[in-house]
Amino acid sequence: MLLKQLLLLPCALRTAIAYTTLTDLTLESLALNSNDFSVSNKDGLLAPILIPRVPGTEGIAKVQEHFASFFRKELPKWKFTFQNSTSTTPLSHGKEVPFRNIIVTRDPPWIENEGDVSRLVLVAHYDSKIDPPGFIGAIDSAVPCAALMHTARAIDAALTAKWTAMETEGIGSGGFDGFEEHKGVQILLLDGEEAFVNWQGTDNTYGARSLAEEWDSTVNPALSTFRTPLESMELFVLLDLLGSRDNQQIPSYFKMTHWAYQRIAQVEGRLRGAGHLKAKRDQPLFYESDKKETDEWLGGRVGDDHEPFMARGVEILHIIPGRFPDVWHTKNDDAEHLDMDTVEDWAMITTAFAAEYMDLEGFMQAGAPLKKAAQPRDEL
Ligand SMILES: [Zn+2]
Repeated sequence: MLLKQLLLLPCALRTAIAYTTLTDLTLESLALNSNDFSVSNKDGLLAPILIPRVPGTEGIAKVQEHFASFFRKELPKWKFTFQNSTSTTPLSHGKEVPFRNIIVTRDPPWIENEGDVSRLVLVAHYDSKIDPPGFIGAIDSAVPCAALMHTARAIDAALTAKWTAMETEGIGSGGFDGFEEHKGVQILLLDGEEAFVNWQGTDNTYGARSLAEEWDSTVNPALSTFRTPLESMELFVLLDLLGSRDNQQIPSYFKMTHWAYQRIAQVEGRLRGAGHLKAKRDQPLFYESDKKETDEWLGGRVGDDHEPFMARGVEILHIIPGRFPDVWHTKNDDAEHLDMDTVEDWAMITTAFAAEYMDLEGFMQAGAPLKKAAQPRDEL
């Protein structure tokens, strides 16, 4: 009876998920290579994204190729796919404009049926606004895309090491709990977030709306744990408008996912405490850890790619400043106006959060034994 009740309550199940916090030594090992984020390094992660990339143009095709070649060369274990759609826009005079979402997934190697995997999903949009002409969208959202590329690469070897250890020790034994057997990680780089004219009606989130609809109506094989690909999304973490010096404070938007907000706030606090974050700030980026039920929750006020997913019941952690940076939707949202210390801090925080969420402590450091560190485990 108890088991049955638990099965009927996915939230109750989730509260039983445990993971180990990253040690100081592991946090130290996350030090990144500034060259990856240099705005002049054509072989880096960020610079190739810093061009106009309006849906359906040559610019966005170049950026798609940048993502494809990065994952093909550096992360061959990640499955790289596109999801395509078309739509008219207020500027297209009835013509269909192509939108191309990029989906990159890494699941445990023993998974035979994708319908049995739940995933941490990390999301940013990679298109840029058509107006003003030449608009770059460095914080909106080239930097979030580069931060997610870095995150994938930074946790890749640890995922391999952990899953190899799990296979060696026998899945379901050796201290790994059942949930860990079925947890993967996915990165969504979405197209067509920006409005062509006005953020009204359907002139926004073209790619996200198409993907949410498709995944809502795709039914997994019978007897799968999850009925649809949407239900496999354990947490949808959306990054947007990151990389300015000013206005980077992130409110906790949703009560439902305040647990995840508190997790990332703790990660930031530990990184900051150990001196691993470069931009000195009077207030933490995640400043609402102690928010109460009765405080004001802003969820729903910021339109973004999470909306079509949230409307279908996906849980959202929205990492977007409560006050948008001054450069937002202006010509000044370019390489020159980025704050590189802040850019690197975001890459570091995102990586540490993903590593903790995927329970990678003990596997993150090169040469570390393929054994989980014996440590008390925090309950979520
Ligand atoms: Zn925008």
